[in-house]
Amino acid sequence: MEQDLHVRDRVGVQDFVLLENHTSEADFIENLQKRSKEELIYTYIGSVLVSVNPYKNLPIYGPDYVEKYRNVNFYELPPHVFALTDTALRSLRGELINQCILISGESGAGKTEASKKVLQFIAATTRKKASLETVKDKLLQSNPVLEAFGNAKTNRNDNSSRFGKYMDVEFDFTGDPTGGHIINYLLEKSRVVFQAKGERNFHIFYQLLAGADDDLLEKLFLKRDPDLYVYLKQGGSSRLSGIDDAQSFKIVREALYVMEIGDEEQEALFHLLAVIIHLGNLEFASGEGGRASISNPALVSTIAKLLGCPEDKLVKALLNRTIEARDDVVVSPMGRDEAVKARDALSKSVYERMFNWLVQRLNRSLQSDAEVKKKMVLGILDIYGFEIFQSNSFEQLCINYCNEKLQQLFIELTLKSEQDEYRREGIAWEPVAYFDNKIICDLIEEKHKGIISIMDEECLVPGEANDKTFLNKMNKLLSEHPHYVSHAKGDTKTKKTIEREEFRLVHYAGEVTYNVNGFLEKNNDLLYRDLKEAMISSSNRITKDMFTASELSRKKRPDTAASQFKTSLAQLVDILVSKEPSYIRCIKPNDVQKPGLFETAIVTHQVKYLGLMENLRVRRAGFAYRRPYEGFLNRYKSLCPETWPHPKGDAKSAVQTLVNHLKYGADDYRMGLTKIFIRLPKTLFETEDAFQK
Ligand code: ATP
Ligand code: MG
Repeated sequence: MEQDLHVRDRVGVQDFVLLENHTSEADFIENLQKRSKEELIYTYIGSVLVSVNPYKNLPIYGPDYVEKYRNVNFYELPPHVFALTDTALRSLRGELINQCILISGESGAGKTEASKKVLQFIAATTRKKASLETVKDKLLQSNPVLEAFGNAKTNRNDNSSRFGKYMDVEFDFTGDPTGGHIINYLLEKSRVVFQAKGERNFHIFYQLLAGADDDLLEKLFLKRDPDLYVYLKQGGSSRLSGIDDAQSFKIVREALYVMEIGDEEQEALFHLLAVIIHLGNLEFASGEGGRASISNPALVSTIAKLLGCPEDKLVKALLNRTIEARDDVVVSPMGRDEAVKARDALSKSVYERMFNWLVQRLNRSLQSDAEVKKKMVLGILDIYGFEIFQSNSFEQLCINYCNEKLQQLFIELTLKSEQDEYRREGIAWEPVAYFDNKIICDLIEEKHKGIISIMDEECLVPGEANDKTFLNKMNKLLSEHPHYVSHAKGDTKTKKTIEREEFRLVHYAGEVTYNVNGFLEKNNDLLYRDLKEAMISSSNRITKDMFTASELSRKKRPDTAASQFKTSLAQLVDILVSKEPSYIRCIKPNDVQKPGLFETAIVTHQVKYLGLMENLRVRRAGFAYRRPYEGFLNRYKSLCPETWPHPKGDAKSAVQTLVNHLKYGADDYRMGLTKIFIRLPKTLFETEDAFQK
C-alpha cells in the first residue's frame, strides 16, 4: 500500500476524477506536471483524454501498443489515444452509433499528431484485405497532401495547420473502412502574400522549388532560390533546419498519385503555384495622374504564359477596375496601392480556390463505392484552438467564435450524455450548474443584432462605411451587452472621445481585445471582376474548375467571409450533434517546442480556456465513476469471502453483496441497470487500494 502511494506520488493519477480532495486548478496542474516528467503524456478526465505534447518521439505508438490497446476496456490500461479510439470504434461497430473525435488545443499542442494516431490505429486494427488497403492508404495519404498545401512554419509550430479540418472515415456494417470525406474551414490565405518575421509561406512553395527537377523549374520560369521571391522570403526564414523540402516534395507527389491526381493535374497545380510566386514579384509604379503602371512587364508576359491567358487582358485587369453602375459601365484605372492590393487579392484567391479544388479532388478519390449499404462514420475534427494574441483581428474573431460554438456543443453533449446515461440506467438525475456560453454565440451570430450582422450591413453601404463606422455602430448597439466591452471612453473633463480602434469580447475562455482595422475588407473579400474574367480565360485545367463564368452573371452578392464561416459552422454543429463524441484536449507545455520543459503559467492558461476545470466539475457533480457490473466484480471479487472465488447469482446481486461487505455508504453509489455508479472517486480509490494490497 505504502509503495503504491509512493508510485502515485511520483506519477500522479491517471484520471483527474481520482484527485479527491485536491480539486483546485493548482492540484490539477501539479498532477499534469508529475505525469509529464515521467513521460506519461496522457491523462483522463472521465472519458476525456488530456494530452501534453512531449516534443519528442515516444515509443508508445508501435504495433506492440496497437495490439495492447485493441479491444481492451478503457480503464484497464494507462490512458492513451489508442484507448479512446478503440472505445469509439467498438461503439461504432458494436452498437452502430456514429462517432466523432473532437480534438482541440492551441497551436503546437499536438492536435494534428493526435488525429494521425487515430487514423493509424483505425488502419492497423481493421481487417487486412487487398481491397481495403487501397482505402486505408488513401485515408492516410490525404494527410501529406493537405499538410503541404495547408500547413506552414509559424513561430509557434514548424508544421502549423493553417486551416480547420473535419474528416469522416466511413465504414460498412462489418466495420471495414470504405472511404472518407473531408471538409476544410477557413484557410489562412493572407499567408500567401505576407508572412511575419520567422515564418514561412505554405510548405508547398518551398517544396516545389527545392524538389522539382531542372526541367520542371525551367518550364515554370523559376529559380531554385526562394529568397528571389517576395512572397516566399518576407519572414526571412525560407530555409529551415529539420525540414527537408526536397524530400517532402517527393512524398507529396507520391501522395498525390495515391489520391489519383496524375501528372497532368499535378503540373497544372505547379503552374498555378508558379503564377502566384511570380505575381509576388510584380512591381507597380505610380505613373501620370497617379495611375499604376507595371515596372517589370516581362514578368506579366511570363505569368500570362503560365496561365494560358491573353497577356493584354491580364495587364488590363491588373491595372483597371470596371465598375458597373445601373446601366453604365465605367473603367477606372487603379492607383499604385490599389493595384498592389488587387494583385494580392488575386494571389490569395487563386491559392484558396486551388486548395478547395484539392479538397474536392481528395474527396472524389476517397468516396465510398455506391453499393456500400450501411454506412457508419467516425469523424475527426482537428481545428484551431482559442487564440489570444498581442493584436487580434478578423481571423481571431472567426476562430474564437468557432471555439465558442464548439464549447457550446461540448456542454450540451457532455451534460446531455450524462443525463442520458442516468436515464438509461434508471438513476435520478441531479442537474449541474454551468456557464452556458450561448449568450456569447448570440452576440456574434444573432440575425440582425449580432456582430456579424452589423459587419455585413456595413459592408453593404457603398463608399461611406469603414472600419471606424463599423466600430461606432457596434459601440452604440452592443455596449449594454454583458460580454461586449466598448473602448470608446468619453473623457469626462474635456467631453472628448478617446479614439481607440478596438473592442473587447468577454469570451468563455477569457477576454480578447480585437483591433477593428481591416475587418470590413477581410469580410468583403473582393476580387475585382476584371481579374476574374482574366482567370476565366485561362487555359489551365484547374482554373477552369475554380473560376466559372456563372460567377460573373450572378446578380446576388456572394455571402461575406464571416457569413460563409457562420454557415459552415452551423453545418459542422449539425454534423457533430448527431454523433457520439469523444474528446482529446491537447496542451503544450512550453512555447519553445522543447522536450522536458513544463511551464506552469503556460499550461495554466490552456487549462483555463480549454474549460478543463469545468469539465471536471461536471464529471464530479454526478457519479464520477461507473463500471459495468461484470468488470467491477471481476476486478474486486477477491475482496469479499462471499464473492470469492465464485460469486453467487447474477453480477448485479454479487456486486451488491460485495459493496455491502466493503461498507459503501447508501449515498456513495447507485445501482443502475447494467452498471454501478460511484459518486466520489474516494470510494473507488479505497477499493482499488484494498485490492492492490
Ligand atoms: P496547429 O494548430 O499549429 O496545427 P497542432 O496542435 O496541430 O498545431 P501538431 O502539429 O500536432 O500541433 O504538433 C506540433 C509538433 O509537436 C509536432 O510536429 C511534433 O513535433 C510534436 N508533437 C505533437 N504531438 C506529439 C506526440 N504525441 N509525440 C511526439 N511529438 C509530438
Ligand atoms: Mg495542426
